[in-house]
Amino acid sequence: MSTATKTLQLRIKDKHAKVLCQMAREVNQVFNFCNETSFRAIRQRHQWLSGYDLQKLTAGYSKCDGITIGSGTVQMVCAEYATRRKQFKKSKLRWRVSNPNASKYSLGWVLFKGGHAKYKAGQIEFAGHKFSLWDSYGLSNYALRAGSFTQDSRGRWYFNVCVEVEVSPSAGTASIGIDLGLKECAVTSDGQRIEGRFYRKLECQLGMAQRAKKKKRLKAIHAKIKNQRKEALHQFSTALVRQNAAIFVGDVSSAKLIKTKMAKSTLDAGWASLKTMLEYKSHQAGVVFEVVNENYTTQTCSCCGVIPASSPKGRAGLRIREWTCSACGAEHDRDVNAARNILAAGHCRLAVGIPVL
Ligand SMILES: [Zn+2]
Repeated sequence: MSTATKTLQLRIKDKHAKVLCQMAREVNQVFNFCNETSFRAIRQRHQWLSGYDLQKLTAGYSKCDGITIGSGTVQMVCAEYATRRKQFKKSKLRWRVSNPNASKYSLGWVLFKGGHAKYKAGQIEFAGHKFSLWDSYGLSNYALRAGSFTQDSRGRWYFNVCVEVEVSPSAGTASIGIDLGLKECAVTSDGQRIEGRFYRKLECQLGMAQRAKKKKRLKAIHAKIKNQRKEALHQFSTALVRQNAAIFVGDVSSAKLIKTKMAKSTLDAGWASLKTMLEYKSHQAGVVFEVVNENYTTQTCSCCGVIPASSPKGRAGLRIREWTCSACGAEHDRDVNAARNILAAGHCRLAVGIPVL
């Protein structure tokens, strides 16, 4: 048993939006103060103020009349400002805009220190306020560390918190290859599939909203697509990690595919996020995760190992979903066959990696 940290995101009930927006305005004030003060110090004295310097300059802000956020949040904003200024290698960052009607409005963002947001009887207590939320994780089971409240483009607020979790090694013993195809998001060597075209299903709704210029509706549909995709990828990757001791995926490069005509379905399918999920979940569960070269995995017969004349090749081959090997007679589903070859390639790689006893 070992531990890992993960971030939980929970939706806060809308009735709290007002107080959170107030907090976000205060955070913006602190951030903008840091921005201005830091810039002036650089310009006038060639001095780069550190997060600690800025904390000293903002001490007392939280004691001012009508201020909701505490000193912990003010300190974190200062530190975060200094970190970002360094990260982006700039002497000045973008101003944070609090007016929701402004075109450059900064979505609400309120940081908190570890221990400053507490879970009590179904609510989050922070800075003297209680926030009700949809507790989809059972927060009482976790020790809450640092995190943030964030707003999305639809004005909804979320509670993001870092927690420590115990990870148990996967009990799975099988190994699996995964082909990131174009039609489905992914197909495994044992024939499991995940649909990658969430966008396509909601496409006509999206078109309608676009034509009718229904901004709110448009945002809602985009958010729906995003959520559905994320949820599906999480379920798929969790199940695979639970079932297996080794997972191999092909090295399909999204950049290469975007250049072809399939750009939309490629971007849509989100290989990158599936790969990332598989990788970190495998890592947490002690499962082997390897990316293998997927050249010829589509053309090669996974039964006899030759590249028969009948196998799908090139762009024309993309249309071929099922084929029969002209060398050994095996019948193949295009993607499952590719996944089996990826699995075989992965096994070879592992075998090479193991020192001879
Ligand atoms: Zn064959």
